[in-house]
Amino acid sequence: EAVINRIAAGEIIRRPSNALKELLENSLDAGATNIQILVKDGGLKLLQIQDNGHGIRKEDMAIVCERFTTSKIETFEDLSRISTYGFRGEALASITHVAHVTITTKTADSSCAYRAHYADSKLVPPKPGVSAEPKPCAGNIGSLITVEDLFYNAPTRREALKNTSEEYKRILDVVNRYAIYNAGISFTCKKQGSNIADVSTLANASTLDNIRQIYGSSTASELLELKKDVESLDLKVKGYVSNANYNVKKMAFLLFINHRAVESLALKKTIESIYANFLPKGTHPFIYISLEMKPQNIDVNVHTTKREVHFLYEDEIIAAIGDVIHERLAGADT
Ligand code: ADP
Ligand code: MG
Repeated sequence: EAVINRIAAGEIIRRPSNALKELLENSLDAGATNIQILVKDGGLKLLQIQDNGHGIRKEDMAIVCERFTTSKIETFEDLSRISTYGFRGEALASITHVAHVTITTKTADSSCAYRAHYADSKLVPPKPGVSAEPKPCAGNIGSLITVEDLFYNAPTRREALKNTSEEYKRILDVVNRYAIYNAGISFTCKKQGSNIADVSTLANASTLDNIRQIYGSSTASELLELKKDVESLDLKVKGYVSNANYNVKKMAFLLFINHRAVESLALKKTIESIYANFLPKGTHPFIYISLEMKPQNIDVNVHTTKREVHFLYEDEIIAAIGDVIHERLAGADT
């Protein structure tokens, strides 16, 4: 059974950045306004996230890492909404099958924090001969989640992830996306032992401030705001896209759907071809798009890593988004 769980976990958590995305979403779901991330060896040695969210109650600590444990499904309507991202309540459980997890957490109505260690979705003692029960300790309201030695028990996967700077890049990419989407929440991300944060956003920064800070200071003057309701498709489009003055060697494409970072190759291709008429050959745009749409219009049959999405009415939805961008680009140019 442990092997089956490990294989299943490896489908959800394929690399450190997948784990980080899940942890970040949990912190955001917990209402955090400050999120600090610490990384060692591209997240393989250490991935730590501290948030000031609502924390986990002591009595829930024994079960939070069990499969299908979620505090987030409250009504039937919620269930249909949440199910569009695949099974829920699986992330923490999956991580405990492929890493050593420690949670230190405190809720507002508890007089102290509690710390517990997890493996294979169960509480485990920090060392042999002592209790596995959550132990009282000092701590602020919120959660500190430490993931150590990712894939320690999956040597083939571990071996495939030798390039720790590549893994760190992917982690930064996830943090950057969420920092831009969640303007008003402060994020930091750094390597353990470093004094300098590689991402650092402020609580009072705007989306534009964060884009400018993360993607280069000249970017903001070259960005066009998108804001459009496409009522016929029940679709809200928001974001910022670069104009013809901005061009870089690599396209930056940040896509959010209903608050979650996702990928859509089909949408990306459409946008690239729109820009091909506006940008010099070989240069690329910056695109940040946030979509809100009915969960029923997002294909539930998403990839296991839950990033690549498809839509019902995919052609119509992509064409509509393309039109919004095209109009904006054409309007700004003339
Ligand atoms: P899901 O997010 O789908 O509910 P997870 O496995 O990611 O499933 O998390 C399981 C549960 O653990 C969550 O529903 C939540 O109750 C709790 N939890 C996880 N991370 C945090 C956090 N940072 N702050 C508060 N609660 C958390
Ligand atoms: Mg989660």
